[in-house]
Amino acid sequence: MQALVWQGGEVVGPAEVAKPVPAPGWALVEPAYVGLCGTDLHICAGEHPRAQPGLVIGHEIVGRLAAACGDLPAGTAVFVNPLLSCGTCLACRRGRSHVCERRGLIGIDADGGAAELVAAPADHLLELPATLDLRRAALVEPLAVAVRAVRRAGLNIGERVHVVGAGPIGLLVGSCARAAGAASVTLSEPVARRAEAAATFGLDLVDLAAQDHAADVVFDCTGHPSVAPTVLGWAAAGGTVVTVGAYPGVVGVNLQDLMFRELRLVGTRVYAPDDVSAAVALIAQGAIDVERVVTDVLPVAEGARAIAHLRAGAELKILIKGPAAT
Ligand SMILES: [Zn+2]
Ligand SMILES: [Zn+2]
Repeated sequence: MQALVWQGGEVVGPAEVAKPVPAPGWALVEPAYVGLCGTDLHICAGEHPRAQPGLVIGHEIVGRLAAACGDLPAGTAVFVNPLLSCGTCLACRRGRSHVCERRGLIGIDADGGAAELVAAPADHLLELPATLDLRRAALVEPLAVAVRAVRRAGLNIGERVHVVGAGPIGLLVGSCARAAGAASVTLSEPVARRAEAAATFGLDLVDLAAQDHAADVVFDCTGHPSVAPTVLGWAAAGGTVVTVGAYPGVVGVNLQDLMFRELRLVGTRVYAPDDVSAAVALIAQGAIDVERVVTDVLPVAEGARAIAHLRAGAELKILIKGPAAT
C-alpha cells in the first residue's frame, strides 16, 4: 500500500509499504483524514529520539473500520486514540495512563495513519456519531489537547485568559477557553500569518511588548525556550499559568515571581479518554469551529509537500486524505 514514510534524516515522502498485520486485540482502520502537527515535523527532521527510519507517520487519525470489530460493523466511523501505555507503571496504576512512564504513540512507536490502512488496539477506537463530518472529526485529537488544558487550568466563568502562541493548539485552546466562559481571550504571536489567523477566531491579538500582568489564566502553547523566562509576566497576581507546549528540556522560569505573587504553574499533557469524548461532543454540537484551523487537505502522494509547507510556517493544520475520505 502507499504510505507517507519518514526515511531518516530529513527525507519524507510517499512510499510502498506492506499492509499492516494487526496483532491480537488490534483492528484495522481505513483512514479518512490524518492531521499533521509539530510532532510530525520533529520526526521528519530526524529530531525524535524514538522514531525509527521507515516509519509511517500520522497520529491524529479518524477513519472507518476495515472489518467488523467487536459489536461495531465494518465501515463504522472511528477516532483512533493513538496513546499507547504499559498498564503497569505507577502512572498507569494511578489511572493516569496518558502520562505513562513508558508512553508510546501510534505514528512514532508503531506505524501511523498517513496510509491506506492503520492498525490500532481495538479498545483505542472510539465510535464517532454517524452524522459527524469526518473532516471536522479529524480535529478531535488536537481539540482534546485543548479541552484538557482548559480543564487543568480550573478556568472560571468571567476570567481573563491570555494564550501565548497562535499555532493550531493555541487557537483551539483560546476557542475552548471562550466556550468555557472566559470574559476575554487575548493572544500573542510573533509570526504574522499566524497572528492573522487569530483574528478569524475572534481572539484579540496583543503586542508582545504589551505584557501588563492582566490575565487570570495564561496558556503557554509555544514550548519555546525564549518564552519561559517571561511567561509568568502575563499572569495577574494569584493567577494560573498552564504549560501546554512541550519544552525541549530545562528552561528558565522566574520562581521568585511565582512565589511573590502567589501564581500557580500547572502542567497538562495530551488527554484522558474523557477529554476525547468532550472534544467529539464539542465538534458534533458545533460549539468550536475547528475547520478554520485546517488550511489544506492533501493526498498521501503529496505528503512531502505538506511537510515542506508546514516547515515553512505557511500553514496551520494540513490534513492528509485517506481512502475513507468523503
Ligand atoms: Zn499531533
Ligand atoms: Zn504505564
